[in-house]
This record gives sequence, structure tokens and C-alpha cells, in this order.
Amino acid sequence: MKTHALAIHGGAGTLVKGMMTPELETKYREDLKLALESAYNILKAGGSAVDAVEKAVIDLEDSPLFNAGKGSVFTATEAHEMDASIMDGKTLNAGAVTLIDSVKNPIRLARDIMDNSEHVFLAGEGAMEFAKLRQHVMESPDYFYDEFRHEQWLEIKDSDTFQLDHSVKKDSKFGTVGAVALDIEGNLAAATSTGGMTNKRYGRIGDSPIIGSGTYANNKTCAVSCTGNGEFFIRAVAAYDLACLIEHRGWTLEKAANAVIHERIKKINGEGGLIAVDRQGHIAMPFNTEGMYRASIDASGRQIIAIYK
Ligand code: ASP
Repeated sequence: MKTHALAIHGGAGTLVKGMMTPELETKYREDLKLALESAYNILKAGGSAVDAVEKAVIDLEDSPLFNAGKGSVFTATEAHEMDASIMDGKTLNAGAVTLIDSVKNPIRLARDIMDNSEHVFLAGEGAMEFAKLRQHVMESPDYFYDEFRHEQWLEIKDSDTFQLDHSVKKDSKFGTVGAVALDIEGNLAAATSTGGMTNKRYGRIGDSPIIGSGTYANNKTCAVSCTGNGEFFIRAVAAYDLACLIEHRGWTLEKAANAVIHERIKKINGEGGLIAVDRQGHIAMPFNTEGMYRASIDASGRQIIAIYK
């Protein structure tokens, strides 16, 4: 059966419901819809899952509402360190980048590493050198500056804590972004991009750029993009674990996705969620936080845009 499907997320751990204004909620929904539909158009026109997930993530990186690209959070040293990764389920090829700044669209860089280098994962200075060589668009710190995020950081900068950008009580924003897709050729792909966690230590790497933890795709099973406290998703090898539950236990996508978020991640006290799509176009979007910015169009064409449970 030739079908296609897509899901995107803008991070788990949203504002507590009472703090979200109707105007802000509308903005979130609009930006999610925009990213969803622009990527879906690629699939509808017969384009590849890899192109679709890259496009969705680019749109979300360009929105100041989400913690990726433009809206990235501040690190403990008042800087931005971004991470991103992408995986093609057909070839099991992957590209990932970590500890970068200035690059307007980290997901484009991850894609470029996948397509045009012999490597999978580039970090820091080496990644920046590759980005310059390949002429990726760079932006000044002003582009990434956001007053709200800066305030958010000022509140916890002298503490040892670091947090999901959205878990601050007075927060009015965002999360890591990601996308998963199935194209009409039956290929799956996943992509994830993030600014990480507010006040994270210099050099800290989360799950988002780690293939198998924050991102995974395999045509045999499913495509997955995670969001939440990266430390827990790394320890749980969450995205790959989900694929293994399908491959080795024969579980449905729904059952496997719920087990990862509501049992395995929860058991080690991790907070977060994920989006996943399988080869039949089923979609799962479980989370164990108050909300997760998410949107999807399944194989039957049904569209969902949601924030809370
Ligand atoms: N998973 C991301 C990280 O730990 C954060 C998030 O999903 O918001 O870097």
C-alpha cells in the first residue's frame, strides 16, 4: 500500500495550562501547522521522507518559539550550543552535529554531514569548520538572542541546576524540535534539533544528536524523535529501544512507544516524550510531561495539532 505520514514535535514539557495565553497558544499552533504542512506537501508530491523531516525541522528552527536554531536556550556560560541529527531509514545513513553556534539551521548541517562527508558525527570546532567550508548560513549572536530565554537563564544561572527550557514555572515557551516521516516509497526518516537545556554546562551533550538515543530511523521498523531530559534518553537508548521492541518482540508502534515513555524512561525518573511513525503510517506521540507541542497527519490524512493531554 502506497501511503505517507508525518509527525512533528516542538518539545515536551510545556507551559502549565493556566500560564498559556490564548494568543500564545494560537502562535504555537500556527507555527506547528506551518511546519507540518510544508513538510507534508513534500511527501504528497512524492518527495522523500528525509527531505520532509529536514524541511519540518528547518521551519521549527526558524521560529523563535521553539528551543532550536533561532530560539535556542542559554548555556551556563551565556552562550548557545546547538545539537542536531538526522537519519535515513532506507540506508541507515545518519548525520549529527553537536556543540555548535552561529549556524542558522543546524539540521541542514547534520544533513550535509550525512550526505557529503565520510562521517556521522562532528562536534564543536571541527563541525564549525565543516559548516564554513560548506558555506552554511551563519548568524550573529543577536539573531539567537531572545529576551525571555535570557531572563529564564538569569533566574537559574547561579545555581547548579539546568532544566528543560519549558519547565520553568513562568515560562511561556518551547522545546526541542523533531520530525518523523514515511514517504510513498516506504522509506522512513527522523530528525531532531535543539539548543539543549537552559543553564547546561559548557560542553554538555544531550540525546538529540545521538543516533539511537534522540533520533533513529530504520525502514524495517520505525522512525523516532525524542524530547525531554536528554540524560535519561541517552541512558535508556530510547529511540533505538523503541525500534527493538517492534523488531524483536513484534510489538505495535503504539505499545512500544508507550513502554519507552511510560515505563522505561519513567522508571529512571526521566521526563519527556517522543514522536514515532512506522512502515504502515501509524503514528504514536506519547509523553509523560504536562504537555508536548505536537502535530501529525496520519496515513488516512487525519490532521492533529495539540499541546496538552
Ligand atoms: N532532549 C533535549 C536535551 O536534553 C532537551 C529537550 O528535549 O527539550 O538536550
